[in-house]
Amino acid sequence: MDKFDYDLFVIGAGSGGVRAARMASSFGARVAITEDRYLGGTCVNVGCVPKKLLVYASHFAEDFENSRGFGWKVGSTDFNWQQLIKNKNTEIERLNGVYEKILSGAGVELIEGHGSLVDEHTVAVDGKNYSAERILIATGGWPSIPDIPGKEHVISSNEVFFLEKLPEKVIIAGGGYIAVEFAGIFNGLGVDTTLLYRGPLFLRGFDEDVRKFLAEEMRKKGINLKFETIIDSIEKTDNQLQATLTDGSTLTADQILYATGRKPKTEGIGIESLGIKLDKAAAIVVNDEYQTNIPSIYAVGDVTNRVNLTPVALAEGMFLARRLYNNETSPVDYENIPTCVFSQPNIGTVGLTEEEARDKYDQIDIYKSSFMPMKHTLSGADEKTFMKLIVDKATDRVIGVHMVGPDAGEIMQGIGIAMKAGASKSDFDKTIGIHPTTAEEFVTMREPVD
Ligand code: NDP
Repeated sequence: MDKFDYDLFVIGAGSGGVRAARMASSFGARVAITEDRYLGGTCVNVGCVPKKLLVYASHFAEDFENSRGFGWKVGSTDFNWQQLIKNKNTEIERLNGVYEKILSGAGVELIEGHGSLVDEHTVAVDGKNYSAERILIATGGWPSIPDIPGKEHVISSNEVFFLEKLPEKVIIAGGGYIAVEFAGIFNGLGVDTTLLYRGPLFLRGFDEDVRKFLAEEMRKKGINLKFETIIDSIEKTDNQLQATLTDGSTLTADQILYATGRKPKTEGIGIESLGIKLDKAAAIVVNDEYQTNIPSIYAVGDVTNRVNLTPVALAEGMFLARRLYNNETSPVDYENIPTCVFSQPNIGTVGLTEEEARDKYDQIDIYKSSFMPMKHTLSGADEKTFMKLIVDKATDRVIGVHMVGPDAGEIMQGIGIAMKAGASKSDFDKTIGIHPTTAEEFVTMREPVD
């Protein structure tokens, strides 16, 4: 008889947990997974997927406008938020079902309920104990909202996808991925949108040229960007919210969205009682093989607060299953992870920023280009695209690629492969462009800037 009920018990059916569970099962392990909220985790339910659908929805306003220059006469348009949310919910429910099928098809047992650790080999789900040789914690993250007076009136990315009514006026607090993405979504849908960021320029950590360029483009679209200030307190007055800012001014809105980061979801799962080591940000500390200080307990994804992106959690979950149940050792490569901010226009980026490259390399060449994309020669829109290559002069290796413009995420995926393959600037130069595209600019930039 087996010593344990399962070989692997996974807590959390988000991107990392589901991938690890089904891969482990495909290698012959006996696997169970528990989830108390929704299958697919943040990405599928209140993250990447619904966000992208909302970005598509919001872009139509501009598309209708832009079509006129191409001879279209667009009749009166009308947007129905409730319809969008209903359709989005139907799609998400479909995906929840797909996840359920994927798990059952892979032979993983799904145990619905709240899982918490009892000891190093036991998880309790709603009062019933399950034993496993190994336990994987993949509980993800949760929006983090600073303690300010009136905090109870704000929403986070958990609620924004389910608003019953589209606000007329919105304030977004924060200057990261979620803040700029939702500023674009609300503004596109015709909402009077203000984004507040505490520092001098949002998107800290991204290339400075990119940050400045995006700020300019967002302002051109009518988004009110206010930097060096943030909300001090919020009061509810009738149907409005009044925010008093740290610069003393006040702003009113009917919704205030806080996008001030996410914290690892480590509470309420018995981590403290087992003495699992957490870092200062309350993230689970793991070694290179995602093992915690308790040898039978592992963790992957946002709960470890390394690189909080879905594809990274997938890669970590996959590595763990291969390592434990298929004897494979090739580790996750965290170098040159391409990423996209679905702002309007998009940011696509891979590799080092200019600031990082200057710190790391003796001499670098910078290639930059900003131009009006062909589409806007007729659309009449005043939107520009920006592209930038950073090259290590000594080796000719391309060490950073950045873009602000439509489909930057799509373009950057291919560039990410080139970077992984160690492409040099002369490889970029030797590549024949696809004409006429925006992306061809990446292979035709000849002269470095001073
Ligand atoms: P981010 O960490 O990207 O940004 C948080 C923002 O909030 C920063 O501008 C930060 O400022 C600010 N902030 C933090 N604490 C406070 C505070 N107490 N008061 C005021 N401002 C504060 O978090 P997000 O919530 O935007 O997104 C969470 C994570 O989810 C991202 O890091 C990303 O990994 C992931 N994500 C990825 C997406 C994608 O791939 N397209 C889309 C959405 C999310 P400062 O910079 O000064 O610290």
